[in-house]
Amino acid sequence: MPDAPSRKYLFLIADGMGDWPMQELGGKTVLGAANTPAMDAMARQGLAGLCRTIPPGMPPGSDVANMSLLGYDPAANHTGRGPIEAAAQGLALAPDDLVWRCNLVDLTALAPHGIMRDYSSGHITTEAARTLIAQMQATLPSLQDGPLQLIPGIQYRHLLVQKGGATGPDATLHIRPPHDLTDKPIADDVAAYASSAALAPLLQEAAAFLAGPHNPTRARSLWPWGQGRPLHLEDFHRKTGLRGAVMSAVDLINGLGRAAGMTVLHAEGITGLLDTNYEGKVQAAMDFLDSGGDFVFLHVEAPDECGHAGNMEDKIESIQRFDARVVQPLYQRYGQTDAVFCIACDHLTPLEVRTHVPEPVPFLLYWNGCHLCAGLSVFTEATAANTGLVIEPGHTLLDWIVRTTGGRQA
Ligand SMILES: [Zn+2]
Repeated sequence: MPDAPSRKYLFLIADGMGDWPMQELGGKTVLGAANTPAMDAMARQGLAGLCRTIPPGMPPGSDVANMSLLGYDPAANHTGRGPIEAAAQGLALAPDDLVWRCNLVDLTALAPHGIMRDYSSGHITTEAARTLIAQMQATLPSLQDGPLQLIPGIQYRHLLVQKGGATGPDATLHIRPPHDLTDKPIADDVAAYASSAALAPLLQEAAAFLAGPHNPTRARSLWPWGQGRPLHLEDFHRKTGLRGAVMSAVDLINGLGRAAGMTVLHAEGITGLLDTNYEGKVQAAMDFLDSGGDFVFLHVEAPDECGHAGNMEDKIESIQRFDARVVQPLYQRYGQTDAVFCIACDHLTPLEVRTHVPEPVPFLLYWNGCHLCAGLSVFTEATAANTGLVIEPGHTLLDWIVRTTGGRQA
């Protein structure tokens, strides 16, 4: 284990905050247009740059990007979205299990001419979804005594475990994430499902069940995707010498933290949306840092949700709330101590395309007495890019910060 660095580290991550310049904003990005006095104050005394959180050729998902920010190389460690969410649930898995993220989706027909209507089945409630999952697990022939098991989750997000599947042909089946398919044809995915001896009968049985009179919801099909073998990450404390924690409303962040042996913090009323309990998240982070913790990864999901929704006003508001209710109180509390702040997003979610893009993300680094001050007036994508500092691959950012801030001898 490396020597314990002497500083505390606060990674404050606004999911999908980064964006592109917009005509409606006079050529500014939403980050540039938002009123962010706390981040700007830190920018004046700190430095900024870009970080390539998405390795070339990998999909620009939050799972990949946040794995990088936590210091793990996605190219070596990322096995799939399903395994990360299984880790969040603390699911006991065998090394050769194949774990699928499994949505309840609304589609016109599970057939070559089918169209994906809604990846969330109209934001189905957890209660209604769990009833359906339990009924299917109890009655569908493919789920009895075979290799397949449904694991209920939250709202439309569930898991499917395929015993021994990691060494079989389904491990490489290409199924697209359903949130990328809204109002689009699903012929390619239906063909892929049909080629799977295990999944084809299950999906037909589930579609027949969900078409029946006992289903009051919009769910019409299971949609397994994001499969992989169980996730194992090197223990964060052993790797960095830092006692670390994650604080997020999002399962996949909690899964990454749990897989890395980090503390998973909780707060009441966190939603992953604009109305989340910012104060509760900040308090949980402070309590952790004040009781011996060294590293906290505080993640706010709202800017990404606003980006997917294409809502410019809400995205600006989400960034302003992140600045005022996360960055500001933590800056006030720790800004004059030996703490190091890294403020970043995991990936860009530009309003123009309403989805993730793999460009390098802007990050802001601040600590009291920073000797590498870049003299910026504000923190934006452009000011971060203009410093010329680029960290790649992105998973080296954390170690680079620890070394640069003198937290540990190189
Ligand atoms: Zn994200």
